[in-house]
Amino acid sequence: NNSEEQIHLKAFAWLTKLYHHLLRHTKEGKQAYQYLLDRGFTDEMIDLFQLGYAPQSRELVVQFLEKKGFHTQQMIRAGVLTANEQNQASDRFRGRVIFPIRNHLGKSIGFGGRTITDQEPKYLNSPESALFQKGRLLFNFDLARSTIRNSEQAVLFEGYMDVISAYQAGIKNGVATLGTSITENQAKLLNRYVNTVIICYDGDQAGIDASYKAARLLHQVDCNVKVASIPEGLDPDSYIVKYGENRFQNEIIEVSNTYMTFLMEYLKKDYNLQLEGDRMQYIEKVIDELATIKRPMEREYYAKELANTYDLSINTMMQEIKDRRKKLG
Ligand code: ATP
Ligand code: MN
Ligand code: MN
Ligand code: MN
Repeated sequence: NNSEEQIHLKAFAWLTKLYHHLLRHTKEGKQAYQYLLDRGFTDEMIDLFQLGYAPQSRELVVQFLEKKGFHTQQMIRAGVLTANEQNQASDRFRGRVIFPIRNHLGKSIGFGGRTITDQEPKYLNSPESALFQKGRLLFNFDLARSTIRNSEQAVLFEGYMDVISAYQAGIKNGVATLGTSITENQAKLLNRYVNTVIICYDGDQAGIDASYKAARLLHQVDCNVKVASIPEGLDPDSYIVKYGENRFQNEIIEVSNTYMTFLMEYLKKDYNLQLEGDRMQYIEKVIDELATIKRPMEREYYAKELANTYDLSINTMMQEIKDRRKKLG
């Protein structure tokens, strides 16, 4: 319902302001503010991204919304507030740093909340609603859009922290999915604006596996895909904090691998290339992938690389690719 969505939008707008105010200007928000400063964020970024702090008190936000004229039960239904076992309304993000999640128009439609102690879970998100659909959203798309359009490139991150850190480092075309793998909807959204998507996920096995899935999906919707590689144990944010923005730009973003180079490396993990049988299977698998490449020049380029590496003739290789492309139709 449209007017219900308008009410939700207003509630999120008020809460964004309240949380941000509490973080920046109150004693209660001081620890959270210090947490963000300690992580290296500047006031400028904290303000630009409207980062906030949800107070410990259960009622403060409930009363704030009531005073602004919102019905508590409706706020619970909308997922703005939660109800505890005694059916008392309360703020689900109590004690957390708040990352407002904005739609493509720049309006807050949900929140991510990070603990500043080591409470589990580390992150909480607003629940899905008609307004807030994680699979249709990219964090920071509204701010990044003009840079994305001009540079024809976007950088895809895993988390809010990565996007904000990169933005602070001058990389303003970063977006993130909200803790889930990228959906077809998000891939198509990106593809409308860019030639190239650089996937820049965390440097752990989960990040590498997620890069593979995201790369495949983006390739399928015809994006030119690149995959950056973050050293083991770091993520883009912690890399920037540790090594600085120049090295991030020059040694991570600039040198990100092409889709096929990443894939040829990634696919090796399932095979023992010392064994002849495995080696054949691996080559077959790579040829399957080569057959999905649309540009003939690109197909030939990687076919040659593969042929050279495994001492096969390029003619055989091109014939194999041709056969597979016929089957793909
Ligand atoms: P930090 O640097 O503060 O630890 P991060 O962005 O590196 O944060 P990751 O663990 O890499 O955190 O997770 C990436 C993203 O996944 C987060 O930004 C968040 O959107 C989402 N996420 C992580 N943990 C959860 C969780 N428990 N529930 C929901 N979403 C989560
Ligand atoms: Mn991660
Ligand atoms: Mn991370
Ligand atoms: Mn991190």
